[in-house]
Amino acid sequence: MKVIDMHCDTLSELLGRRERGKAAGLRQNDCHVDLLRMKESRYLLQNFAMFVVLEGFGDPWERVCALHRYYQEELERNQDILAPVLRFSDIAENEAQGKLSALLTVEEGGVCRGETEKLRELYRMGVRMITLTWNFDNEIGHPNFDAQKKQQMKHVMKTWREYTAGMSASADGTSASADGTSACAAGASACAAGASACAAGTAEWEQKRREAQFFVDAYLHTPNLTGGLTGKGREMVAEMEGLGIIPDVSHLSDAGFYDVLEVTKKPFVASHSNARAVCPNVRNMTDDMIRRLAGRGGVMGLNFCADFLEEKPLGEKNPGTVEAVVRHARHIADVGGVEVLGLGSDFDGIDTNEGLPGVQSMEKLWHALHEAGFSEDALDKVFYGNVLRVYRDTLG
Ligand SMILES: [Zn+2]
Repeated sequence: MKVIDMHCDTLSELLGRRERGKAAGLRQNDCHVDLLRMKESRYLLQNFAMFVVLEGFGDPWERVCALHRYYQEELERNQDILAPVLRFSDIAENEAQGKLSALLTVEEGGVCRGETEKLRELYRMGVRMITLTWNFDNEIGHPNFDAQKKQQMKHVMKTWREYTAGMSASADGTSASADGTSACAAGASACAAGASACAAGTAEWEQKRREAQFFVDAYLHTPNLTGGLTGKGREMVAEMEGLGIIPDVSHLSDAGFYDVLEVTKKPFVASHSNARAVCPNVRNMTDDMIRRLAGRGGVMGLNFCADFLEEKPLGEKNPGTVEAVVRHARHIADVGGVEVLGLGSDFDGIDTNEGLPGVQSMEKLWHALHEAGFSEDALDKVFYGNVLRVYRDTLG
């Protein structure tokens, strides 16, 4: 078994911890991802995202530069076991030297502020993949999640939490759990833990739950079918392909996916997205998108975020299971062929999946997929072969 994982947010998590005065490093930590556990788990390559939140965190370009400085520091500090991937041949060379490969990505194309020159700068910095949008509109295009529906959902969720917290407080003194502000989770299932402990099931509770659920579903289940790439975005995606930066359509709107298909010629990726037919969250891909991505020779990475794997009604916990990941893998392979399937855990960008809590869990996933009928040859493709193929076809 070898492992290539197309997405984690560990750099942002670690730099954030350092800025809050909590010392932590990439080599060994209590995050989902660290280098020593990856070596144990026979990782070949990890994509490390520089995840930047566009709104409310200062200048996004400065942020990406700070993350890049941090990445360089970690590369230097761990050069005995970690080395960057700038060309495809680096992967085999790093492996021959017994080193884990790191491929640098940006999660949020908006850091470029629509300047094509910035793409060239990112390339020089070592970036080889860019997630075109996160959950905000930017100069490149639009995400699937709608800003107005998000505001409505946040409002009803706040009301719902206050309601359940009030009930819990009177029932047993506990309060509803924290909201999901992790990089990728929409927060629906993380929100209402206290509900079952309180007077759940009363007519008033049920009515309020249904009202809140309606807005949550409207937000999570409505894809953006009209707002795709902007004119500038089409230019920038073509430029990326020319440079050898892989466009990543995870988070991008459905309309944007089809625009990328039109603008590009080479394979591209959905680095951390599951199947919408299995879980209706619009962060996941429709069957048609899966087939078209497969037709292009691209690959999509299984995301371990519990909310993207299966949905629970408000008021129920969603701990995350390995079985749910297997269901998505089965569906994606059935629809698009096993060649389209890869890994994109989203580690350190999501709440811990209790079934797959970190890089040490990859062997467990391998066995679960094997038991579900994936052959060893198929699993070689899923765990590293398919992504290697895309990197061979796209990196210089
Ligand atoms: Zn993400």
